[in-house]
Amino acid sequence: MKLSQRITHLTGGGSDGWEVFYRSRQMIADGEKVIELTIGEHDIRTDPVILDAMDKAAMGGHTGYAMVPGILSLRQAVAARIQKRTGVPTTYKNILITPGGQSALFAAHLAACNQGDKALYLDPYYATYPGTLRGVGATPVAIQTRAEDAFQPRAEDIAAVAPGATSLLINTPNNPTGIVYSRETLEGIAQVCRDHDLLLISDEVYDTQVWDGEHISPRALPDMAERTLVVGSMSKSHAMTGSRVGWICGPEDAITHLINLATHTTYGVAGFIQDAAEFALAQGSPLEDKVAEPFRRRRALARDILAAQNTVGLVPAQGAMYLMLDIRATGLSGEEFANRLLDAHKIAVMPGESFGQAAAGHVRVAMTIDDDSFAKALKTLCELAATLTKQSQLA
Ligand code: PLP
Repeated sequence: MKLSQRITHLTGGGSDGWEVFYRSRQMIADGEKVIELTIGEHDIRTDPVILDAMDKAAMGGHTGYAMVPGILSLRQAVAARIQKRTGVPTTYKNILITPGGQSALFAAHLAACNQGDKALYLDPYYATYPGTLRGVGATPVAIQTRAEDAFQPRAEDIAAVAPGATSLLINTPNNPTGIVYSRETLEGIAQVCRDHDLLLISDEVYDTQVWDGEHISPRALPDMAERTLVVGSMSKSHAMTGSRVGWICGPEDAITHLINLATHTTYGVAGFIQDAAEFALAQGSPLEDKVAEPFRRRRALARDILAAQNTVGLVPAQGAMYLMLDIRATGLSGEEFANRLLDAHKIAVMPGESFGQAAAGHVRVAMTIDDDSFAKALKTLCELAATLTKQSQLA
């Protein structure tokens, strides 16, 4: 079939560091027992109280077409949550309910960028970012952050490529680094956006997973609400990855156009899923804390394990469900190390190179298995790194 360039060129082609992930999946399909620390999927399922609400809504008949912008009460609940967390006046008119954060990222960029526009994003990045930007017809431009800055972006690096660009995509708490952007970082970013008239797309899907410091939404910074589209999701905060429900928060006129886009693309989100999301939000922070707790615990375990050795470095794990580990002492790339770990110990982690260039020589570990297995796998990883480091010193 003769397909459009837009779709055939979506992923960019070539090696993208995901080979080790596909290899581990193949090993599992072949019946091998692999400890998977790869993707951002909770090891708990959606809480039964949310499922009860979903069941009641579906059995109660909320199975027809739902309102395309989202049901009013959910839009109001999301707006209230955002206003409470950020202090920025927000109403339902600032909210579009979307089928998850990913479609919100796509829609936000479609709203921001014309064909060929320069769309900026930061490296290391969540794996779908470049494809999302290409998918809307924009030209993705990656800006490298640096390991020596613990991957906090430098405003001057963004400013250097900002002239002529249309948008900037950021993500805090960050996947894959686990970094939470500081106020200073965000103020610098906001200044670049104001100086260069950039539209900021702020991916905040991990906003409930903060272990150190605080989550600051850049929409709350001076004069930023008018140029920021915030992407949110119930996937990570409420372990509702499969429900596909998220949102875009932005200026009213942008949301009006985005509702038009939704009419011509998704046609909204299932009503019983929205009812369940509304119920989940109404439970407030106790439910969010319950979902975040296993990661908080494992992050503490990881800090103890990593403090007891000196080969593997831990990028300050301030938020989200991942650890970014510096394995450069081994002399191997992240990809080589991940392959060795998979072959020798059947433990699958993501090479830093799967997320761009900036996290080369690192691996990302998802904290998504039970505490004991997680601690054991992490110790094994550190032991392998120590052995490989010794070998490389002798060579
Ligand atoms: N943004 C980031 C940084 C992510 O890590 C993910 C999922 O892993 C998403 C967006 C998309 O999440 P969802 O589409 O499930 O809301």
